[in-house]
Amino acid sequence: MNMELSRRTLLKGVGVGLAGTALGAFGFGGIEAAYAKEIRAFKLVGTTETRNTCPYCSVACGVILYSKGDLKKGEKAEITHIEGDTDHPTNRGTLCPKGAALLDFVKSDTRLTKPQIRKPGANKFEDITWDEALDSIARHLKDDRDANFVAQNQDGVTVNRWTTTGFLAASATTNETAFLTYKVVRSAGMIVFDNQARV
Ligand code: SF4
Repeated sequence: MNMELSRRTLLKGVGVGLAGTALGAFGFGGIEAAYAKEIRAFKLVGTTETRNTCPYCSVACGVILYSKGDLKKGEKAEITHIEGDTDHPTNRGTLCPKGAALLDFVKSDTRLTKPQIRKPGANKFEDITWDEALDSIARHLKDDRDANFVAQNQDGVTVNRWTTTGFLAASATTNETAFLTYKVVRSAGMIVFDNQARV
């Protein structure tokens, strides 16, 4: 969200803030809400909004990430605030306590930011690139399907089954992505197929 912070806007906010504090002390309920509404804009001045999805559970609530720092200018971008997306049909701006604490999740020292692999016989994981991860997954899928695909059963009936690999789909997707996922998985003959929402 980019907005001009004019002197008039600043004075307006400061004025409401002072009035809110004074009136609140005299017991005028609701003035704090008006005060919060006025100063909220300042918190987000100069930030960039990015739409995303809460990663915690299968409800898949929509969130907006507010960041400072322009990557196009070579600056380091940092997420400073996260809140529910009021335009999202699933949560309409609300978040549960886990979603409301997403900023801690993003900034956690233990959060994985790269794919990892534990090679056969190894006792620890090592970082790999996203390209390596996708190539590796594609290679394993192809090799396993080539080795185990069953075109016909023992009676000669065409079954086109692939039973040795399973697929767990995510629920934080659009209907279109879900439709395509279903088509790809079933067209490949895969039978073991489930969704995050049932886990
Ligand atoms: S905000 Fe809460 S309910 Fe929504 S996806 Fe995140 S964890 Fe699930």
